[in-house]
Amino acid sequence: MPDQLIDIGINLGHDSFDSDRADVIRRADAVGVTHMVVTGSSLESTRAAIALVRSDPQRLRCTAGVHPHHAGDLNESALHELTTLAASSEVVAVGECGLDYFRNFSPHPDQERVFRSQLELAVDSRKPVFLHQRDAHAAFVGVLREYRPRLAGGVAHCFTGDEAELDAYLGLGLYIGITGWICDERRGLHLRDLVRRIPADRLLLESDAPYLLPRDLNPKPRSRRNEPRFLAHVLAAVATARDESPAAVASVTTRNALEFFGFPHTASEGARSAIA
Ligand SMILES: [Zn+2]
Repeated sequence: MPDQLIDIGINLGHDSFDSDRADVIRRADAVGVTHMVVTGSSLESTRAAIALVRSDPQRLRCTAGVHPHHAGDLNESALHELTTLAASSEVVAVGECGLDYFRNFSPHPDQERVFRSQLELAVDSRKPVFLHQRDAHAAFVGVLREYRPRLAGGVAHCFTGDEAELDAYLGLGLYIGITGWICDERRGLHLRDLVRRIPADRLLLESDAPYLLPRDLNPKPRSRRNEPRFLAHVLAAVATARDESPAAVASVTTRNALEFFGFPHTASEGARSAIA
């Protein structure tokens, strides 16, 4: 039986999965990915994510949030709806939210306002936050520090930063989400050293599919679309970098994900026997 894995970040509502979403889930299942957390990154994708969870409640949970790229969308009425969505039982974290000064699709003051609104929402709903940060470390940590004492917890999703960023996040008690970025020999090599610094009880794995197909995957799917079934490939890269066995890394990351996102532990056995 393959190692049990949990994909804590998949954009399963993405339209590239429209034609074969059930097959994507089945293929993931077959390689041990028993649970997934569907990322909500806009009101629309959050609504879609909640609908997906309702269609497969044993296997799926989701987040409710607005990505900094879409910060301009979160007016007062949208925030009201997001608050309602975030309260639903399918939602296990608020986000993805944060700051992205790399693409700069939204002005910085808008991004910060919308980030703060969602941190408030996380505090009020007592749910952890699913965090996105790119090229905005100082501002991001500054805002996060203000809210941290009142937050239930958080994960720095798709961590790609440097040692100082990692240490700051760990100092804030965050979990660290590692994606196939670590498999990229052009821009992910530094992660192979850094991932060794992450305590086992802070480590999580995510595909971020359909994005971030591991670059060293061989053969690659013709579509170049990433899928949660490739999470075992990310697991292998993380295990090699940490000098640990894939089984050990699978075991701790799965336990972390079950606890952090509040999946019922028995559900994992149910999902396993359902495929067996
Ligand atoms: Zn992100």
